[in-house]
Amino acid sequence: MDRSLLGYLYSRYSMAKSKLVDSCIFCKIVKKEAGATILYQDDQVTAFRDTHPVAPTHILIIPNKHIESLNELLDDDKTLIGHMFVIARQIATQEEIHEGGYRIIVNTGPDGGQTVFHLHLHLIGGQRMRHPLG
Ligand code: AMP
Repeated sequence: MDRSLLGYLYSRYSMAKSKLVDSCIFCKIVKKEAGATILYQDDQVTAFRDTHPVAPTHILIIPNKHIESLNELLDDDKTLIGHMFVIARQIATQEEIHEGGYRIIVNTGPDGGQTVFHLHLHLIGGQRMRHPLG
């Protein structure tokens, strides 16, 4: 493909992506431009309470950088994803649900039930979980 066309397409892609990030509610929470009950934040991840909890404990753990879903995950994100799980474990202990147990869910895409398109782990606990999942 012609280099100038590639450059043009890339600049359109970058513009569209930055618009998406600007309007993303979870990006706004990371930047403290939108309110949330933040339980933990470092340079890679943020954890906050879900506004519509489905159990006594319902916390979302997100990467600070905008990743739309698991489908957009790169090999370079392996450490970040590992860190998200370590923080989930840490918060489960903090919330005192670690002994009883808890559930981690990552909804992906419309069929997966994803409604906010910024990758997140749901950490859910404080009650006995029911089956089936689907
Ligand atoms: P999902 O359906 O997996 O995309 O989950 C999105 C979750 O984000 C839902 O459980 C919502 O209740 C939650 N949510 C949406 N907006 C906010 C917000 N501003 N603060 C906290 N949680 C939110």
